[in-house]
Amino acid sequence: MRSDDDYKIPEGDFIPGIYNYCDSWCERCLYTSRCMNFAMGQSIEKEIEKGKRIERSMEENKEFWQQIDQTMNEAAELIDEEFQIKEVWQENTFEEDDDDDNEAMEEFEAIRKKAEEHEMSAVSQKYMMLTHKWLKEMKNDLVQDYDEETDQFSCSYPGLTDEELKQLTEAVELVRWFHTLISVKIRRAITSQIEEENDGDMFEGFPKDSEGSAMVALKGVNASISGWTFLYKVIKPEAKTIKSFLHMLWWLKTNLENKFPGALTFVWPPEEK
Ligand code: SF4
Repeated sequence: MRSDDDYKIPEGDFIPGIYNYCDSWCERCLYTSRCMNFAMGQSIEKEIEKGKRIERSMEENKEFWQQIDQTMNEAAELIDEEFQIKEVWQENTFEEDDDDDNEAMEEFEAIRKKAEEHEMSAVSQKYMMLTHKWLKEMKNDLVQDYDEETDQFSCSYPGLTDEELKQLTEAVELVRWFHTLISVKIRRAITSQIEEENDGDMFEGFPKDSEGSAMVALKGVNASISGWTFLYKVIKPEAKTIKSFLHMLWWLKTNLENKFPGALTFVWPPEEK
């Protein structure tokens, strides 16, 4: 009989902490072979004999992310200049939190609350909820299937060609994957920025967590814009709703880039010397 002691920590040429600023989408990651987190997951999966992980080549994944970059110009044309974010965001979705007696906790709570109440947090939270609702409401027309046996996700929508259905699946996969992650990373970026401003010395010499988190959020926003832009083209009856998602994301993109300019040049994983 095997015990936990039999489990061996995987060895390899891992980049320390690479998983700190990733989007957790291992199937699409360029660095699986350099990631301890991934290796541990693989090792655990092998241990419990749970099916096969989809492995895509590095080339295929590079192409995937390049395609996302290329969609940005197309999406920019859909954005109305006079658009006001308050048109789609009218309610504050947060409730008041209870006070904590502990002083340190109070300070942390104050920072967390400030981050939560930030307009970008509220918009990303709203985006998350509306996306979730839309995907659910669309499920009769935009059918989303996950096959546990093959670990494959696929989508269908009436009237599309096989090639379009393949692209549709990728687009929905992008939107689904990132719609929760964006708001989590934005809140973390704002929280870390406040902490870095309050205690600058403490973080000296380290990559800025605010910039790393904002970089991941931005990556998610860009990928989602790419996904929605394709959906806009093929799900015609939903064009108006989809455009409002694009507006929210574009607003987040612009505000992230302005508030965290360092996110645009944040190099992760760090270059090896
Ligand atoms: S760095 Fe890549 S392989 Fe590692 S946890 Fe993040 S997405 Fe997965």
